[in-house]
Amino acid sequence: MHHAPGADRPACPFCAGAEAETPPETDADRDPATAPDTPGWRVRAVPNKYPVLAPEEGVHEVVVATPRHVTRAGELTHDEARRLAVVVGRRLRAAEDDPRDLWPFAFLNQGREAGASLAHLHAQVVGIPFDPPRLAHRAAAFADLPRCPVCADLAGAAAEGRVVLAAGPLVAWLPHAPAWSAGIRVAPRDHAPRWVDDPDPGALGPVLADLAGRVHRGLGREALNAWVNQGRAGRDGRYHWHADLVPRLGFLAGLELGSGALAGANDPAALAARLREQGGGDPARG
Ligand SMILES: [Zn+2]
Ligand SMILES: [Zn+2]
Repeated sequence: MHHAPGADRPACPFCAGAEAETPPETDADRDPATAPDTPGWRVRAVPNKYPVLAPEEGVHEVVVATPRHVTRAGELTHDEARRLAVVVGRRLRAAEDDPRDLWPFAFLNQGREAGASLAHLHAQVVGIPFDPPRLAHRAAAFADLPRCPVCADLAGAAAEGRVVLAAGPLVAWLPHAPAWSAGIRVAPRDHAPRWVDDPDPGALGPVLADLAGRVHRGLGREALNAWVNQGRAGRDGRYHWHADLVPRLGFLAGLELGSGALAGANDPAALAARLREQGGGDPARG
């Protein structure tokens, strides 16, 4: 736990024992013998205290990854990462089920340069009251293409040495034409539109945690963003769900913003090899 000098309460509002510092929980993976908003939880979802949307407009929740003061996904145990993904999936589905027809989206910011205002590792789930242009455009593109672009890129990745790891039905690889510098993509090998409909949504957690550890060791970067893109319920039937993990290698500058060319992303096979060499685990554990 993370204590301020001389304080008997955790200094961090997301640590165990500080439950009163957040709004009341909406969901938790907790010991059934314990009451809501008390210690005994493993993963805890609460409304964001500083939401990007007013509560009457949409949903904005924080999903605290663990009661331990962990600041990097690579430090999570396999079990913690799995439980985190399960609760995020549940909250994403709750946002989908909201009667206001919101656009649901789940993401994680790690490190201040990646937008995390609190260091204690947490994911976020939003339900946005309009269709974000980029995501709506991408979902529509799947319906127009003759072949699923995720399946096609995955087939190429295996042939071109761009795969970082395979874990059961999931594969992590460097896309052929990455939208983000050094962005790593994770998707099921077998085409499936929606993550929340996967028989085992928790499996994504340990894969992303493993990749975060590899990025830290292999690229020397802690700050990263990760998110899940999936088809909307009852729509986007041709979508192929995927998670993207994007290390913050530097600030986007004029070249990147103006041209769309990404300086750090010119050799996905070399980057994949570098990440494969790192193996699993976290540097803090030696
Ligand atoms: Zn903490
Ligand atoms: Zn596909």
